[in-house]
Amino acid sequence: MATKKIIAGNWKMNPVSTKEALALYSGIKKNSARLKQTTAVVFPPAVFLATLRDKGVSIKLDLGAQNVFYEEIGAFTGQISPLMLKNVGAKWVIIGHSEARASGDTDLEINVKILSALKNGFKIILCIGEKTRDAQGKYLAVLQEQLEKALVNFPAKKLGQLAIAYEPVWAIGKDATGVETPDGFLHNSIVIKKTLSQIFDPKKAKTVPILYGGSVGVKNAESFLVAGHADGLLVGRESLDIASFSEILKIAEKVK
Ligand code: PEP
Repeated sequence: MATKKIIAGNWKMNPVSTKEALALYSGIKKNSARLKQTTAVVFPPAVFLATLRDKGVSIKLDLGAQNVFYEEIGAFTGQISPLMLKNVGAKWVIIGHSEARASGDTDLEINVKILSALKNGFKIILCIGEKTRDAQGKYLAVLQEQLEKALVNFPAKKLGQLAIAYEPVWAIGKDATGVETPDGFLHNSIVIKKTLSQIFDPKKAKTVPILYGGSVGVKNAESFLVAGHADGLLVGRESLDIASFSEILKIAEKVK
């Protein structure tokens, strides 16, 4: 279990200008300066990373990338390599986000992206989550399969570079069709931990942080961290608001 809570802000395809990105990053940076119990990381669009790194580098607020390609250099139009991301200050990378899966990332690509990111020293947030929930619990097989396929050949000695974000797809974004509960997350995180302990040595598997994501905000952050025992949160929309994201960092900082 990670001692520090991980609070990650996925900016997705926002904002549209470098000026706005800088203002958002600077505001969050200011409010993260005193964090002790919390690892804060924002994932801006890759085009802003270099500017944010150059103008606003902070030891309390890490930068990450929203996706990565598995090859390092070459004829891959439109792709961004792990070497490029390292060179513009990204330390983390999200892999397997449901929106990237919807745009074509397959389980196999997710696996090779993870191995490439690992080799290049990134901390990885692997997103998993079912598209629909059924009362019989059949959706749990989706989570297990996504984990097993994503983590093929993942060396156990590198588990310190991995976090899992459980993000039920139906609970993400403004078109969410339902809300996950802290109890629901807790139940599913136990299944995730069990699956990890079948893939890796159980003692080592226990150390992998399990984050919750899906319409997290100031209103429910504490309940997922306390009642849901989440090791962290992956925040979408509310990470675009300085006051809200800063408040979520504050909440994470005070929970035990
Ligand atoms: C996400 O897409 O990772 C996410 C959690 O989005 P939101 O918080 O907006 O539901």
